[in-house]
Amino acid sequence: MPNAKAYSAASATSPLTSDTIERRDLIEHDVEIEILFCGICHSDLHAVRNEWSNTVYPIVPGHEIVGRVTQVGSAVTQFKPGDLVGVGCMVDSDSTCPQCKAGLEQFCPNVIFTYNSPDKHLGGVTYGGYSDGVVVDQRFVLRVPSNLDLAGVAPLLCAGITTYSPLRYHSVTKGQKVGVVGLGGLGHMGVKFAHAFGAHVVVFTTSPDKKEDALRLGADEVVVSRNADEMQKHTGSFDFILDTVSADHDINTYLNLLRPDGNLTLVGAPPKPLEIAAFSLIMGRHSLSGSNIGGIAETQEMLDFCGEHNITADVEVIPIQKVNEAYDRLLKSDVKYRFSIDMASLKSE
Ligand code: NAP
Ligand code: ZN
Repeated sequence: MPNAKAYSAASATSPLTSDTIERRDLIEHDVEIEILFCGICHSDLHAVRNEWSNTVYPIVPGHEIVGRVTQVGSAVTQFKPGDLVGVGCMVDSDSTCPQCKAGLEQFCPNVIFTYNSPDKHLGGVTYGGYSDGVVVDQRFVLRVPSNLDLAGVAPLLCAGITTYSPLRYHSVTKGQKVGVVGLGGLGHMGVKFAHAFGAHVVVFTTSPDKKEDALRLGADEVVVSRNADEMQKHTGSFDFILDTVSADHDINTYLNLLRPDGNLTLVGAPPKPLEIAAFSLIMGRHSLSGSNIGGIAETQEMLDFCGEHNITADVEVIPIQKVNEAYDRLLKSDVKYRFSIDMASLKSE
């Protein structure tokens, strides 16, 4: 597959436009995938606009990939042409470090992300899923349950695993009170999983119009976070809070809602450092931690869980020609609850 159609951005201030990119020829452990859908993660927007100051241009974003296998290399045993598969945020790692051996490839010092990481095969950087095809080492290809809607499966590959993993790591279970801050792509998956794990789920949103949806998605209560009285009522009561917010916000407000020994885990990645008051942590022995996606085995576990429980993302399917408009809407928190690009739309480019 030497050439693929794609959408790329040439600089932090350029829109995404149609492009042709090179993909490597299949080598023995490789799987060639025709991409059917790719979700739009807020990380794509942070990266395209160089908000984390590490973007190499041109960039082809996209790490919520679902597609169909078209060809496999000679040493591939797990996949065959026609299989439905997914690719998330990673496409390679060294397989030898302690993190890889523990199934935490995302923390491998040599992890290669799906886009904007060094490409050892072609030089330059890796190109992501806003494209009609990709070639990926079989170790980073996931099996997709056959009973799920594919447009809604794509976001599971990042938004899904990013919320599933910390909820599992912190043993969220029945009887616990769990908060989810921000009802966007990650947040709405966090609500679905926390609900499926049996927790009492409270959504914190800045968008009062998302209240009904939050309840439909599995929340037991919804708090409009700009309302201080509503917030006050929950002081000292949460076992666990998952913070998915993409922009600057006051996390002390949420730390103060934890019960003694409660934990707040950040998955949102706002570009600016967050301010933390010592008293938000020391009063109640609260802890603050972070989490980055999840390992490959856990990603497969999450997909299988979604297959068994019929869980997918709520998506607005768009043609790729609407991607720049979708970014503008993402910045206004105007997405219910993930954009999923139908890659058939690339054929007309
Ligand atoms: P998203 O769909 O844009 O959702 C973010 C939500 O945060 C919005 O819907 C909004 O929810 C809330 N929000 C936005 N601006 C806010 C503000 N100024 N104050 C308070 N709340 C605000 O984004 P996403 O794709 O879910 O990604 C969320 C963040 O997670 C991004 O920073 C992304 O880069 C990061 N991320 C991290 C990982 C990881 O592995 N750790 C993986 C993927 C993404 P309401 O309307 O409900 O208030
Ligand atoms: Zn993502």
